[in-house]
Amino acid sequence: MSNEYYIYEKNVECPVCGNTITVYAVKQKAYVVESRDTDFCVRYKDFNPLLYDVWICQFCGYAAQKNTFSNITYKRAQFIQQHITPKWVAREFEKTIDYEKAISRFKLALISAQISKAKASEVAGLCLKIAWTYRFMGEPEKEKTFIAHALDKYLEAYDKERFPLENMDEATVTYLIGELHRRLGNFEEAVVWFSKVINSRVGSERVQKLAREQWHLVKEELKNSAS
Ligand SMILES: [Zn+2]
Repeated sequence: MSNEYYIYEKNVECPVCGNTITVYAVKQKAYVVESRDTDFCVRYKDFNPLLYDVWICQFCGYAAQKNTFSNITYKRAQFIQQHITPKWVAREFEKTIDYEKAISRFKLALISAQISKAKASEVAGLCLKIAWTYRFMGEPEKEKTFIAHALDKYLEAYDKERFPLENMDEATVTYLIGELHRRLGNFEEAVVWFSKVINSRVGSERVQKLAREQWHLVKEELKNSAS
């Protein structure tokens, strides 16, 4: 099935420079979930919408995930105009996006987010998606590097921001922090965060179940690493 079956072009207004830009949107039928990893990475059948998650303004260089693209504050937009636009070299609109291109698009969004001082949770979400893209590419070391960045930023967001963080309630974020620790081999920290979820008894049934399952798994991993 060609990509046109799953995506279509549309025009949106860039909230930084005001130009009308062309972006890709993903059709509903492209979202056929095959399975979900324990850090919420979704595996889709046939087509991976993750590749089309970042929108880039060809005119000013602003880049962000599509669900946050339009919600940039005036102050943040000014940072983009002052620090990104002067260095921006217009690039061609990418017709098809493979994993390599997706990584470079996510990294552009990361630069926009960092330079304009986006919330820690937004930076964390971007780092996690870069990690997932590396997972799909079979690059475990690079995946780990970005899981570590995501974890740092989620910890910062956990302390400083109000829940929900990017649609995740407190129990979900607490669980995710535990799971990212576990994936980095920080088993004792993982136990602490999973236990927080289990003991609080809040959050959805799904998150409670995941926390219990991963708590058992990490206990096994601790036993194995001790022997
Ligand atoms: Zn723009």
